[in-house]
Amino acid sequence: KQIQKAEIVMSAVSQKQYPKDQLPEIAVAGRSNVGKSSFINSLLSRKGLARTSSKPGKTRTINFFLIDEKFYLVDVPGYGYAKVSKQERNKWGQMMDEYFTQRESLQLTVLLVDARHDPSELDIQMYEFLKHYGLPVLVVATKCDKIKPSKRPRHLKAVKEGLNLEPGDEVVLYSSEKLDGRNEVWKYVNDHL
Ligand code: GDP
Repeated sequence: KQIQKAEIVMSAVSQKQYPKDQLPEIAVAGRSNVGKSSFINSLLSRKGLARTSSKPGKTRTINFFLIDEKFYLVDVPGYGYAKVSKQERNKWGQMMDEYFTQRESLQLTVLLVDARHDPSELDIQMYEFLKHYGLPVLVVATKCDKIKPSKRPRHLKAVKEGLNLEPGDEVVLYSSEKLDGRNEVWKYVNDHL
């Protein structure tokens, strides 16, 4: 998959700042350090487009990347970063609620989990939150290059069981370094645009 143009058009903290042109959107969510920036950059074949914002003190924003004037890839701030204050966590929750419950152009959310570990309580909550609102979800299990190929099926199963995945939902094993799963993710994304 070749992208001609990928540019950030907005870093939003509230609804008023979201793009208004109603292009379809694909959101990307996951806990801090799960590999979200690497995922976005490798999917788009761009170095340094998405940057990790898990450092304390950095403003956490919803970043809209316009892709080939056709759709937005939406980087939502990562959750579960240990060093944020309660106040910041509330702000994050409000921002997420506002986006996921009201954004009509949202077509699909890619939920990232770490392929090496069972899904965390926060991963499970995020999945259940999205399903509660009837939103289509693709689960992407990152950093699969760190697992021996022979052990990958076991990890795939653990992710599915840990999230209590609904019938019809899928998990794709992904590596931002080796590009495993990239074609599969693109196929899924294109099917939802
Ligand atoms: P973010 O905080 O979720 O945006 O995570 P980053 O994309 O910054 O990645 C966190 C760390 O995991 C970095 O050290 C990355 O190099 C590493 N990482 C991310 N994706 C992969 C992957 O697919 N394979 C490997 N081996 N490391 C990865």
